[in-house]
Amino acid sequence: MKKVAFYTLGCKLNYSETSTISRMFENKGYQKVEFDQTPDIFIINTCSVTENADKKCKKIVKEAKKISPNSYVTIIGCYAQLKPQEIATIKGVDAVLGAAEKFRLIELLDGFAKEQEAKVLASEIQEATVFNNAFSINDRTRTFLKVQDGCNYGCAFCTIPLARGKSRSDSIANILDSAREIAASDVKEVVLTGVNIGDFGIQDGKRKERFADLVTALDEIEGINRFRISSIEPNLLTNETIEFVSRSKRFVPHFHIPLQSGSNTMLRAMGRRYLRELYEDRVSKIKTLMPHCCIGVDVIVGFPGETEELFLETYNFLNELPISYLHVFTYSERANTRATEMGGVVPMKVRNERSKMLRILSEKKRRQFYQENLGKTYTVLFEEDVEEGKMHGFTENYIRVSAKYDPMLINETKLVQLVEINEMGSVDIEEPEIVYEKH
Ligand code: SF4
Repeated sequence: MKKVAFYTLGCKLNYSETSTISRMFENKGYQKVEFDQTPDIFIINTCSVTENADKKCKKIVKEAKKISPNSYVTIIGCYAQLKPQEIATIKGVDAVLGAAEKFRLIELLDGFAKEQEAKVLASEIQEATVFNNAFSINDRTRTFLKVQDGCNYGCAFCTIPLARGKSRSDSIANILDSAREIAASDVKEVVLTGVNIGDFGIQDGKRKERFADLVTALDEIEGINRFRISSIEPNLLTNETIEFVSRSKRFVPHFHIPLQSGSNTMLRAMGRRYLRELYEDRVSKIKTLMPHCCIGVDVIVGFPGETEELFLETYNFLNELPISYLHVFTYSERANTRATEMGGVVPMKVRNERSKMLRILSEKKRRQFYQENLGKTYTVLFEEDVEEGKMHGFTENYIRVSAKYDPMLINETKLVQLVEINEMGSVDIEEPEIVYEKH
């Protein structure tokens, strides 16, 4: 029995896809092992968004060859689609597969016999038109369920459409089948995953279904306690979806909405499809219906043309908004994107300073959000990891709590009252006070 090991870089989508590809191997009789258990085959799923994708890829290949010098090393993922020939020259690589080929790798690399030269099977990205469904079940607590892939937008800084192709989705019927399968494996929380999930519904190039109908159908799935919408573009987050979440049985009050900049000048330069007024309106709609809702924000600093004044517009905008945390990205040049041809390049030192300012703001926002929720009662889903005798979990609205380790609580939900913010920045809890109503 041949042994195969996996390594994943990047986002939730990559994790869900690696997990599905690993199940394909197991179904064909391969044995899935850990990276250091002398595998015969390595599958490395790469990312094009992370810094130094090339260096990371080389490093992992080198490690793989140290562990199993005669192993067969295959590279898949976004970076493999963008730079297949470059990757093929890395010492130790046996095959590189693109976006249209990666789900057929067992059949395409029939037997994994080593050849003199690395095999490159990467069609042009236009060929990646098929939706391959995927979900992760490595972690019992939380599953990433892929519902959509690719993107038809063309933001000036982004390589994802080049690496993943056009927007396409699974059908609601198939997604419900996957959700039932996940429910049967005792997973408590499902995170809907995609590149641009608000654009859900395109099949064979035509819009056939709607995101709002997908979430409504999933809400009826028994056996899954929670669904989380991972990240959704502000212009695609409709009132219908916000209202649905506010009365849903299973969708939790947590949105992650990319903003990228709080300056309309920058939003236009980036090619984003909304202005700051729309963003403000979405946040206000959410907070009116769900005052306790957690709102996460992606923001990029140092995009070409971002003057001090425009950066401060972003800073002040975020400071004023009732959001809960930020994911701050320091802009870095990516080949084949429009942004690399723009003037007004921001020096790296300034980019880093701005990034630091927003990270501090993020901490302030998170603390403020946690503070507002102290004394309230929520349901926590506890996770597996233990740190210095403490275990952790998240509430519906994504507040991280700490509790004394209790093996019985792993992957279980429990009603708790939030007491105080501890020195680790998470929240200590106690059993909720029972309030008896007078009759
Ligand atoms: S919406 Fe913009 S940033 Fe997001 S994947 Fe599409 S092109 Fe990239």
